[in-house]
Amino acid sequence: MSKTALVLGAGIVGTCTAIHLALRGYSVTLLDRKAPGSETSYGNSGIIQREAVEPYGFPQDLRILREAAFKIGARVNYHFDALPGLAPDLLRYWSNSRPGRHARLSKHHAKLIECCLDEHELLIGMSGAGDLVGQDGFRFVYRSQATMDSAIDRAQRLAREYGVSYSIQDRHAIAQLEPALKREVAGALHWLDPWRIKNPGELVSRYAELFLRQGGHIVQGDANTLHATSMGWGVASDAGRVDAEAAVIALGPWSAELARKFGYGFPLLPIRGYHRHYLGTGPQLPMVDADGGYMIAPMQQGWRITTGAEFARLEAPSTPVQLTRAEILARELFELPQAVESEPWRGARPCMVDLLPVMGAATRHRGLWFNFGHAHQGFTLGPVSGRLIAELMSGSTPLLDPAPYSPARFS
Ligand SMILES: Cc1cc2nc3c(=O)[nH]c(=O)nc-3n(C[C@H](O)[C@H](O)[C@H](O)COP(=O)(O)OP(=O)(O)OC[C@H]3O[C@@H](n4cnc5c(N)ncnc54)[C@H](O)[C@@H]3O)c2cc1C
Repeated sequence: MSKTALVLGAGIVGTCTAIHLALRGYSVTLLDRKAPGSETSYGNSGIIQREAVEPYGFPQDLRILREAAFKIGARVNYHFDALPGLAPDLLRYWSNSRPGRHARLSKHHAKLIECCLDEHELLIGMSGAGDLVGQDGFRFVYRSQATMDSAIDRAQRLAREYGVSYSIQDRHAIAQLEPALKREVAGALHWLDPWRIKNPGELVSRYAELFLRQGGHIVQGDANTLHATSMGWGVASDAGRVDAEAAVIALGPWSAELARKFGYGFPLLPIRGYHRHYLGTGPQLPMVDADGGYMIAPMQQGWRITTGAEFARLEAPSTPVQLTRAEILARELFELPQAVESEPWRGARPCMVDLLPVMGAATRHRGLWFNFGHAHQGFTLGPVSGRLIAELMSGSTPLLDPAPYSPARFS
């Protein structure tokens, strides 16, 4: 008889976990309160970030810190009333982002990133989602020569240490490659390895369809009804109660809330972000306006502007001031006369204070597993972490050493 598993959360992480468990002979039910890929995995910038070998830490640069403190620009915003509650986790996040510690953590992050293209490629092939993929990378453009020079220094170091590839375009080359640019910029750095997805939510839908073709079940329900049973785990759904031997919490930014119910206190910072689509003429490849602190990417729905970090309570009302600023900055570069949606989309990157995801078995509950906290690179890492957790659950040899990502580090 096949083993049974419940996967809670049908974002990119939960959906890939479900696929990989099904591939290993499990009978799997995937539960979400919405359709697969409707939350964070819908609203991101869609980059499979093969270049992001180093996780994004708390800024150490004094100029950016000053910008953040005084809420200048589009890069950072915060809710003043949330700071006391977030302060202990923000302090740990900042401490883990200091250069020596960050370099050590990056070695573990890079191990995951190194597998991201192969693992997405497998699922893109199986799900027939090739039409959503561009394999031509993305760019950072620099308005100032000084920021460009320091970015080139960093790119040279990453190429040396991790073998990532890039090319540099001066002001004339980038003007030719991106003819819609309205004004001159200092230049651009093109990361060549990453892939871009033209509709991230649709990619998760295709992965979910693949899971259904594998014989998996998708149900709607509230993951917070999860409870221990004599068999293992049970949850309430619109299809009635679902029981299984194992349960995986893959609820992205909502994961810590459910884990807390079972006595696990995970330090997860929800780093919020916004997006909106625009009609007009934007860049041909996704582009980070490095001095502006936002990204603009061509998507099926229009040009998607995504914002940087907002520190606030997960469910606090939207305050899209960064998007308003990003919109002004983007219109200096491109002709974007009209927004598609009346209201911006909001989501939250599930970020652990030590910048690494939580992937592994619960320390005190048999059959309970965690797969969350992939922060700024969750869309990149969904397939890798889905495979890793399925390998651990089924007792096969994992594709990489899982120790650095173990939930036990927060026990
Ligand atoms: C603006 C922005 C840009 C980004 N750009 C990129 C990028 O370019 N590349 C990249 O790799 N990453 C990017 N990210 C990060 C990435 O989007 C996330 O790390 C990733 O989507 C997290 O996936 P997940 O499956 O863990 O969470 P989610 O996609 O949020 O999935 C969690 C699921 O759990 C469900 N859920 C929650 N609570 C319950 C409940 N009680 N009951 C039932 N279901 C529940 C939700 O409905 C949701 O479907 C970006 C994020 C943001 C915000």
